[in-house]
Amino acid sequence: MDEQLNAAPCGYFIMQHDWKIIDMNQTLKDMMKTEQSPSHIHDVLTVPSRIYFQTYFPPAIAVHKKVREMYLNVKVDGRSVPVLLNANERNGLLECVIVQIKARDEYENQLMTAKKNAERIQKETDVTYTKLLGILREVEEKQQQLLELNSVLEKLAARDELTGLHNRRIFQIELAAAIENAEENDDQSFSLLLLDIDHFKHVNDTYGHATGDLVLKELARKMESAVLPPHTIARIGGEEFAILLQEPIPEKAIEKAEDLRKFLVSAKWEILPITVSMGITHFQQGDTRNSLYIRADDALYASKRNGRNQLTCN
Ligand code: GH3
Ligand code: MG
Ligand code: MG
Repeated sequence: MDEQLNAAPCGYFIMQHDWKIIDMNQTLKDMMKTEQSPSHIHDVLTVPSRIYFQTYFPPAIAVHKKVREMYLNVKVDGRSVPVLLNANERNGLLECVIVQIKARDEYENQLMTAKKNAERIQKETDVTYTKLLGILREVEEKQQQLLELNSVLEKLAARDELTGLHNRRIFQIELAAAIENAEENDDQSFSLLLLDIDHFKHVNDTYGHATGDLVLKELARKMESAVLPPHTIARIGGEEFAILLQEPIPEKAIEKAEDLRKFLVSAKWEILPITVSMGITHFQQGDTRNSLYIRADDALYASKRNGRNQLTCN
């Protein structure tokens, strides 16, 4: 083989149509780490590459008289080295060039691995994102449930257990707000009405505590039907009730209170008829909750002293 071909920067060999190698340049011998030229192409290739070669090389030569960039693996010291093979048919022989592509092969393998990793991470990210969305949805649902629960609890905390009316605690808050409002707006003053059932001990003693409870409930329903919002009714003690009458004109508030008393007197009672004594007072500038309670309570006890089932103003 001529000197220039021997030193070419690629492997070069000549092969017959029976795939016997008849000559090989020095570069290829160096690549194969051999001094002897292998006698058959099969001695050069790995087993899978032999099968690949047999499948594609002969038909390509038969049809095109050449082969371009056939990817094969050659055996070097028992290891597999990736190469590209080009072949031309000339003068009944096959002139072949082999270029080692170890760097490119490794680079491609790294690319493949990177691509696979990227796909795996993408898939994991998608799964995590879907999970995150699920968790977010769950959190939103729980928050909604919590809000609903809070509003239920708020309502429960504001209610008297037996009658369902506002309890003393919430009435105190409502009264404070009404005072604040009336202090700032002259036309938004109000009246505080206190009610106490007459001879309720007698009801309990005669019919029992359970019946007494039913009477309390019935009174609550009756008052609710007669006193509508914005006025608020609360149970502030055992058989004591308070009504915040959002009525700026004191006479009108008194009229409403008296209407309520009469309504209760003439009402049809399912359990047993009762009457209430009432004390009413109207807001005056400088009033506190305490001063209002004291005046209304004095009026209520005047009603009791004067024979019950009546309204006293103070
Ligand atoms: P007065 O006309 O002077 O108000 O007489 P009274 O008997 O209604 O008054 P008093 O304050 O002496 O008694 C109130 C009674 O109300 C005593 C208590 O047993 C009863 N009571 C308080 N809370 C409840 C309750 O939740 N259920 C029942 N059944 N009775 C209650
Ligand atoms: Mg009482
Ligand atoms: Mg009483």
